[in-house]
Amino acid sequence: MRVILFLIPAALMAQSTPQPTTELPYSPSLDLSSMDTSVQACDDFYHYTCGGWIKKNPIPPDQSAWEVYSKLEYDNQQLLWGLLQQASQPNPSRTVAEQKIGDFFHACMDEAAIEKAGLQPLQPVLDRIAGIKNFHDLDQFATEEHLDGIGGRWLFGFDSDQDLENSEDVIAFAGRGRLGLPDRDYYFRTDKKSVDNRAKYIEHLRTEFGLLGESPADAKLHADQVMAIETELAKSMLTRVEMRNPHNLLHKMTPGQLNALAPTLEFDHFLPALGLTNIKVVNVTEPAFYTALEKQLHAHTIDEWRTFLRWNAIRDASPYLSSQFANASFDFYSKYLRGVPQMKPRWLRCTEWTDRNLGEALGQVFVAKTFTPETKARTVAMTKEIEEAMERDLSTLPWMTDATRKQALLKLHTIVNKIGYPDKWRDYSSVDIKRDDFFGDIDRADRFEYRRQIAKIGKPLDRTEWGMTPPTVNAYYNPQMNDINFPAGVLQPPLFDPKLDDAPNYGNTGATIGHELTHGFDDEGRQFDAKGNLKDWWTPEDSKEFESRVKCVEDQYAQYTVVDDIKINSKLTLGEDVADLGGTLLAYMAWKHATAGMDLKPVDGFTPDQRFFIGMAQWACGDTRPDTKREHALTDPHSPAEFRINGVVSNMPEFATAFGCKVPQKMVSMKPCRVW
Ligand SMILES: [Zn+2]
Repeated sequence: MRVILFLIPAALMAQSTPQPTTELPYSPSLDLSSMDTSVQACDDFYHYTCGGWIKKNPIPPDQSAWEVYSKLEYDNQQLLWGLLQQASQPNPSRTVAEQKIGDFFHACMDEAAIEKAGLQPLQPVLDRIAGIKNFHDLDQFATEEHLDGIGGRWLFGFDSDQDLENSEDVIAFAGRGRLGLPDRDYYFRTDKKSVDNRAKYIEHLRTEFGLLGESPADAKLHADQVMAIETELAKSMLTRVEMRNPHNLLHKMTPGQLNALAPTLEFDHFLPALGLTNIKVVNVTEPAFYTALEKQLHAHTIDEWRTFLRWNAIRDASPYLSSQFANASFDFYSKYLRGVPQMKPRWLRCTEWTDRNLGEALGQVFVAKTFTPETKARTVAMTKEIEEAMERDLSTLPWMTDATRKQALLKLHTIVNKIGYPDKWRDYSSVDIKRDDFFGDIDRADRFEYRRQIAKIGKPLDRTEWGMTPPTVNAYYNPQMNDINFPAGVLQPPLFDPKLDDAPNYGNTGATIGHELTHGFDDEGRQFDAKGNLKDWWTPEDSKEFESRVKCVEDQYAQYTVVDDIKINSKLTLGEDVADLGGTLLAYMAWKHATAGMDLKPVDGFTPDQRFFIGMAQWACGDTRPDTKREHALTDPHSPAEFRINGVVSNMPEFATAFGCKVPQKMVSMKPCRVW
């Protein structure tokens, strides 16, 4: 007992004394000490490969989950912390990028100034809300708030994106407004936990209104009003599963039609105020939302709408204000909803916010420090090898007819690979960043970003742009750009390990590259053609065959339990599950091709094939708090890590052969699924 009590706090202490660093620490992409060989590989491959990692890496008190990805992110953040400390010295030789990130970080770390300011930075917004007397004032405020807001587009969303039907055109998108709970389903589910969540949310609203100086009676009234409005608006919103079908989000209208849909919002004033004087088309992603908003505007008094806006303002601003506001926000959104005991330390929040607001300036210093030309060359070569494997796979896939195959190959050949960082860096020189005005810095950075997005409307598409910052430990495929994106942050050990051989690297990063490629051909991505247009390029028989093959994956994952009695919503996770399976198969085929004719030897008692699969599983090692699992079950399109591994290997005969697994062992599916 004493030993356990001693060990756990020691492990937590080690994690709770982070330091700004100048180098990333090293851990290998195949780590024997992360395994737990007391578990049988054929019974539970995930815990066989990751059990040791989970034991030696308890979830730190300020995290909702702790995984290989988040640990690497944390290592990156400590390095960024070191780089930001250096950049925050007011040295005249700083570059523009260093001045912006250094002064932003300095202002963010000045907790004394932030405490002293209290609510005052938000006061001008609250005053403007208090001045709203009628719908015209409300629209005026909504317009200003879009242009000059602190991150929210509170009544409705308005942005730019590629036309779903013609990817070369950037057009205006009018979308839904924001909700205070993480998803629209939170407002309607009837299970006990969901009922408790809503009661806690109302309590949180009362706390926030209290912090704005309201009496308990007013705070209660206002909390109920916000809940009533949000519930009505949530009813009109598509579910996450419905949103996965891009056709459900395609409703192109003229500005006149949008204005007619919700006349009270006065789009005939809103659009010109954003500088959009002669646009011809707006894609209204969810027309039902605008119909509901129009109805709700008249179903509530102006006073109730002022309350709604006040809540949105304090919600978005709270993390950046003094501790009483930041703590209230943390208590509900992190501690209660996700079960996180402790708030992240200031340095970590400031590093994350610098990345979020000035990511490509921070990215420049990160890349210079971490991403060598050798790593770039090796990961580019691996990407090509995996694309060639996909080409061979598509060329020989037995279930596909030649007409569809031709289109699939065309799509594969036009995919653009973005590896490491953008060719040209975003220029932040017009953003005024001050060393002593944190809230103002957030505000100005947000204003810069919003105007940058709106300025794209009607201009030629910039295909070089990235949707993730270079330090990010993640990757993505964008169906409209038809590109895969691997930031420098994700191409570091233990995910990509320049010191190790191909087997674990193809298993780990290779399978992730294959995963992103497969997204171009999952149930969502397959609806876009080589140009990134939403256009059906499938013959009906191939479509049918595809549907039945993904149904196999959907049925398989629907049986897995997330937590308690909550099963995976496999209609939500289908695209990711298909990408996990396809990605691993492609990486395996590519690795076999890249090492053909080589005499690969066992290492540490594991055959080359076993090392491929252990490397593949070890990207996913980690643990998640039960409350966070509950939230993810409703909102995360990814399955829990253990099923992202076990679900995949149980479909692969190559895995069964490598580890000698046989029916009825759990890691051998009786009905293996195969799509790509
Ligand atoms: Zn994915």
